Amino acid sequence: MPVMFETTERRFGALELGGSKALCAVFRGEHVVAERRVPTTCPDETLQAVITFFRDQGALDAVGIASFGPLELDRESKNFGAMLRTPKPGWSDVPIAGAIADALRVPVEIDTDVNAAALAEQQRGAGEGADPLVYITVGTGVGVGVRMNGRPLHGLMHPELGHLRVPDFCDFPGSCPFHGRCVEGVASAPALAKRYGKAPAELGDDDAIWALEARYLAHLLATCVLAYAPRCIVLGGGVLERTGLRERVREQLVAQLAGYVPRSALTMEGVAGYVRAPRFEQRAGLIGASLLAAGACS
Ligand code: ZN
Repeated sequence: MPVMFETTERRFGALELGGSKALCAVFRGEHVVAERRVPTTCPDETLQAVITFFRDQGALDAVGIASFGPLELDRESKNFGAMLRTPKPGWSDVPIAGAIADALRVPVEIDTDVNAAALAEQQRGAGEGADPLVYITVGTGVGVGVRMNGRPLHGLMHPELGHLRVPDFCDFPGSCPFHGRCVEGVASAPALAKRYGKAPAELGDDDAIWALEARYLAHLLATCVLAYAPRCIVLGGGVLERTGLRERVREQLVAQLAGYVPRSALTMEGVAGYVRAPRFEQRAGLIGASLLAAGACS
């Protein structure tokens, strides 16, 4: 009987499209063989630079895209893979996946940057094998990706829990243009800067801000626990680089759930293994995009 080896010779294009920069790479298996960063300017210029990069790399089997949102991910929609209405000038309704598929003539898969990061952490990272899995990133914005039964959670939309309204733990009115006091409006890096008049990096580890930040983020995590029953939450992003913040969030999560979920993962002893630091940090979206590409031609 012949022995079957999984081929690693397939070459996948991966694009992480962010609000300020686009990272493009070619993966052979798990290895990056070429990479380029281009600024995110107007759609025509940015997508043309991405397409040119991929063309210069030779034949690709598929391309995966991890993009900022909101995105149209309803496969029944003729606009599948397009940007929805966004405050970013010029990007509303741009057919991102369609433009790349038309230019390169290869299968293209697309998801939100956080759903792609969730995929990377579930398949190869800090949440390996955990399902459902929730991935949360707290930085310029607050993003939540959810994987359930081996698939990303899509429906009417993709999850947008960064815009969950929060309790009145303080009197800051919030900075979200849509909701004021949502998680992103009180706990993202720009929200912290607006509230305190300086960048979060300039605040000390013992500043009272971090206890408040932990309460807000724990409210988001508690909501995820109650809504999705994840077996693991991966919590990362630039704001979480603050020493001790992840530990504070864990303690607050256990406190806010108040013993309602009778699982050892949600005790003070068990929560460190439940709310985990990401493995890939800044690379999660790009790695997730390569896994989306692999899925597009499997
Ligand atoms: Zn909001």
